[in-house]
Amino acid sequence: MKTSKPRVVTTRQELAKESQRLMQEVAAAGSRPSLGLVPTMGALHQGHETLARAARADNDVVLATIFVNPLQFGDTGDLERYPRTLESDVEILAGCGVDLVFAPPLEEVYPDGLPLVRISAGALGGKFEGASRPGHFDGALTVVAKLLHYGAPAATSQGPTTYRAYFGQKDAQQLALVRRMVSDLNFDVDIVGVPIVRADDGVALSSRNRFLGPDERKAAATLSSALRTLARRAAANEPLEMDEVAELVHAHPLVDLDYLEVVNPDTLEPLGENCRYTPFTGRALALIAARVGPVRLIDNMELSGVHDGGTWEHSRATG
Ligand code: AMP
Repeated sequence: MKTSKPRVVTTRQELAKESQRLMQEVAAAGSRPSLGLVPTMGALHQGHETLARAARADNDVVLATIFVNPLQFGDTGDLERYPRTLESDVEILAGCGVDLVFAPPLEEVYPDGLPLVRISAGALGGKFEGASRPGHFDGALTVVAKLLHYGAPAATSQGPTTYRAYFGQKDAQQLALVRRMVSDLNFDVDIVGVPIVRADDGVALSSRNRFLGPDERKAAATLSSALRTLARRAAANEPLEMDEVAELVHAHPLVDLDYLEVVNPDTLEPLGENCRYTPFTGRALALIAARVGPVRLIDNMELSGVHDGGTWEHSRATG
């Protein structure tokens, strides 16, 4: 494993030069290099590490980006509070064997101020997280589009090659929307989804967890515990009875539940009523979001019926 510190660049010009140099080095050794891009907002933890390690395992050259994107924050307080830990982030990325880190200042990404023209996340962008954070996904997709563009010249500099970008399944709605953007707008990049990393208490790792007090941290575990209950019922082909599970979460005094929903894993369309009371078969995704103390938490889990009757469409049709 490579552990030497990656070079950190802050301008697009340096990024283009250095990333193309790295690709050229691999090409000179005789193989056509692939490029992996890992976009992050910094404050890195083991969740981000798995993304970087997956990118390292799959690609010849790995580029990570650290940029706290103001366009996706509705609340300026949340933006100002967002942890910034560049030095330790670079250490972590070094440990994962990342080759190059792009950590631009705001003006480098938005030289003319915030952009007039943005990506629209459409109807899916207004649901779930988008319902309580208007414009969040438009902002997130706009910066992801930019970051994917920043990597593209290096990806093609040594001729056609594989260009991959890594996103966590933790942000299931973001991942679904990035996949749709890449497909709808013909971006030449493969999107790789990486499984959620959890702490021992089941809580999905998040840069915002550090703002939870000890009691809030215990309360946060209610979210993954609710998801596990649904996953257990699904695996046993039992009805999910989501309302009962939601009630248990609601009952916790420190948890303010926003939504608990079971959806098609690809489109995030809700499954409807049938899976609540009829035996669960097929495949689905359970999504949950809640405010716990000062923090909004999201989590999700795949649901899979043992006697897999086929796809979710099948389970709906038979419900
Ligand atoms: P962020 O820095 O929060 O924007 O996250 C950067 C990337 O890391 C996103 O693709 C996230 O989905 C992913 N990520 C964040 N937390 C986790 C986690 N606990 N497990 C896996 N991936 C994660």
